[in-house]
Amino acid sequence: MKHLDVTNLTKSFDPTSAPAVDNVGFQLEQGEILGLLGPSGCGKTTTLRMIAGFEKPDTGEILIDGSDVTGLPPEKRRIGFVFQDYALFPNRTVLNNVIFALHRKRRSVRTERARELLEMVGLTREADRMPFELSGGQQQRVALARTLAADPALILLDEPFSNLDAALREATRRDVRTLLKCAEMSAILVTHDQEEALSFCDTVGVMHAGAIEQIGTPETIYLEPETSFVAQFLGRANLMRGHARGSVAETDLGTIPITPNAEGPVLVSLRPEHIALETTGSSPSAAEIVSREFRGHDLTYRVRFNRSEYVVHTEFTRDLPPGSVVRLAPRRPAVVLRETGLCRRSSTGVGAIAEIPRWIPLR
Ligand code: ADP
Ligand code: MG
Repeated sequence: MKHLDVTNLTKSFDPTSAPAVDNVGFQLEQGEILGLLGPSGCGKTTTLRMIAGFEKPDTGEILIDGSDVTGLPPEKRRIGFVFQDYALFPNRTVLNNVIFALHRKRRSVRTERARELLEMVGLTREADRMPFELSGGQQQRVALARTLAADPALILLDEPFSNLDAALREATRRDVRTLLKCAEMSAILVTHDQEEALSFCDTVGVMHAGAIEQIGTPETIYLEPETSFVAQFLGRANLMRGHARGSVAETDLGTIPITPNAEGPVLVSLRPEHIALETTGSSPSAAEIVSREFRGHDLTYRVRFNRSEYVVHTEFTRDLPPGSVVRLAPRRPAVVLRETGLCRRSSTGVGAIAEIPRWIPLR
């Protein structure tokens, strides 16, 4: 039995347009952190609100430890919610914010338990301060302590780090992940930030237009995307058309290894850091560096070859000026995506591949 089992969740706000959440299903183990990752408006918050009980699904079921909570009000579900804006009581001290959430516990144990929780989130010394005296990251940790105080079976976090500036965001998300893991707490994190989802979650569901397009470990969704949307939402991707013959495909880049094996017309994805730049004398397979962008930890090049342009990331030691003649060498097999001219239908009856340019830049 899974800790959380969500099946066929669907929600329409407007009957004339596509559902905000369309047949979403996934499962969660006790202690697992799941991410729902996708662009703004793809249905992440609505999914979370249905699980919490703030929104009633049109169809679908939500089971917690095997019992159906779909019809229960939020307070009967043992689910904690952490929002982007912390939602602390501004006129109560940090300690009293946490104590407030312990109202179901006996009065005599409340203070002690609240202090334990503050210790757990590393805020012992801030107990008597007011929320406005704390940094955003500290406030978010108070919010987490308060949520943990209610002893939930599951915690839902909706973009909890997006109000924090970059440096604090990374540290806070590391702290919060450690805390959730120490407490063996199951959680769902909603975010539009791919790096956050990859680093914070054990499993990530990539959402697109109300549906989960792919779900898997961070490594799987990044390294083995199934669709061009997933390939491009998780980072940059060089998309190429080709003709597959088993473990290789003929593409504009030459005959390159692919995974999984395929036959016939394919669309494949190769990440910029999975292409090496080899310096070469002028050879028939020569490509030319069009531009170079220094990014501190790595370098981003645009490289022209056979009338197409490719994005390539190399480590900082591989510093080549624009105009350099190079050879493009895949370091990993290109990943075969689900949409090919053969298997995906579009409304015109023609494969969607005709609409996909050879190289699609992201953002
Ligand atoms: P996300 O959290 O991924 O940005 P949401 O779940 O908030 O997306 O929204 C999904 C879609 O549902 C959007 O098109 C949004 O406008 C719509 N929507 C969300 N909540 C409501 C609501 N209460 N009434 C009408 N439309 C809504
Ligand atoms: Mg949202």
